[in-house]
Amino acid sequence: MSGLFLDREFLPLRELKPSYDVVIIGGGVQGLSTAYYLAARHGIKNVAVVERAYIGAGGSGRNTQVVRSNYNTPETIPFYKESLRMYRTLSQELDFNLMFSNQGEIDLVHSDDSWRVENDKCLLNQSLGVDTHMLTPREILEVCPHIDLSGGGKLPIIGASYHPPCAFVRHDAVVWGYAAAAARLGVAIHEQTTVTGVRVDAGGTCRGVVTDRGPIAAGAVLSAVAGWSSQIAALAGLRLPLVTQPLQAFVTEPYRPLINGLVSSFDALVYISQSQRGELLAGAEVLPYNTYSLRPGFDFIAECAARAILFLPLMAKARLMRQWTGLCDMTPDSSPILGESEVERFFLSAGMGTWGFKTAPVAGRSMAEHIATGRVPAVMAPFLPDRFRNDRMVPDAASAGTH
Ligand SMILES: Cc1cc2nc3c(=O)[nH]c(=O)nc-3n(C[C@H](O)[C@H](O)[C@H](O)COP(=O)(O)OP(=O)(O)OC[C@H]3O[C@@H](n4cnc5c(N)ncnc54)[C@H](O)[C@@H]3O)c2cc1C
Repeated sequence: MSGLFLDREFLPLRELKPSYDVVIIGGGVQGLSTAYYLAARHGIKNVAVVERAYIGAGGSGRNTQVVRSNYNTPETIPFYKESLRMYRTLSQELDFNLMFSNQGEIDLVHSDDSWRVENDKCLLNQSLGVDTHMLTPREILEVCPHIDLSGGGKLPIIGASYHPPCAFVRHDAVVWGYAAAAARLGVAIHEQTTVTGVRVDAGGTCRGVVTDRGPIAAGAVLSAVAGWSSQIAALAGLRLPLVTQPLQAFVTEPYRPLINGLVSSFDALVYISQSQRGELLAGAEVLPYNTYSLRPGFDFIAECAARAILFLPLMAKARLMRQWTGLCDMTPDSSPILGESEVERFFLSAGMGTWGFKTAPVAGRSMAEHIATGRVPAVMAPFLPDRFRNDRMVPDAASAGTH
């Protein structure tokens, strides 16, 4: 738990009620968006969000803010497309400036095989109404003149797929926007409150949670704790098909605007962008081991910076300012797990991996409908927890970009 600043809190500590209609474990974008849509769309306002540290302490305050829909399967594309559509008007809906900025994404291609994969992705995207198309090397330079087409002499660039709708949204603003809007509707957000138990009755129905501030009865419990999903599921007697892996990123000191949008290379496993404050940001794949440690490492900086410099040589002279780590709950098919679990009235918003920020609007809205009505919205149906048992996985690792 080091690095989570467990003693930090932003909201006044409020009294816990003995029972709520819904208890949501985890004050990240997934938990908070579900709370907001439960109250806003279904009139379910007797909701508690229970957060061990402070809202946004997990991946929601640590991600690299990419929101896009250029995925690789007929199930995932509509899901991410709908979330991006919702993000476009979310500032107005929440009455909170989320700093939505549409900038586009270039996925560099270095081999004939990668070209075929990216071209197939473009065709599938287009057939489902998502704008993704191939660029020639000359067209790449028109979008991003600073790219070295020789790939540092090691990974020459022969083309790219281009996804103009890709956007960046300020991550902590999304956390605070959902939290503020939910709170206005009556949702109780309890920071500094750790769930230590999940109460399941003899008939296999979830009846509430136990916290370090006392027990809470609930008509439904949602686990939305991303990297800690295995721990909370275990409290309910469940074993989930996911592992927790660390993901790091770094930013340099701020510079004048140099790159517009996201530049990534799946072959080199690196992505680069420039934040609204001017920092050059780079990230790579999840690290190849399981841990709950948030300790950043020098190996990552050395490796990731070397890869970034291949394509943006100007980064060689940039001064590194900060690096950080978050935890990702990685599923075998790189798709989220959404829906009621084998324990009745115990719901899962898990398997958020490296894609759980961009999915917050659609996943939260779908989960709220599912909890409130029992229905499974069509856009969420491919991601139900029973897909692993029923051999209906939704494999989309190639779209994750970072592993
Ligand atoms: C470096 C990095 C870059 C990323 N980039 C992107 C990106 O560009 N786009 C994208 O879509 N995704 C990205 N992701 C993934 C994304 O950040 C996560 O998938 C997403 O934030 C998960 O949100 P969440 O609300 O499910 O969980 P979290 O934000 O992790 O929130 C879970 C919360 O649960 C709390 N909690 C844990 N245990 C307990 C307990 N026992 N009791 C009470 N509370 C508890 C934690 O304190 C935490 O605040 C990135 C992740 C990282 C680390």
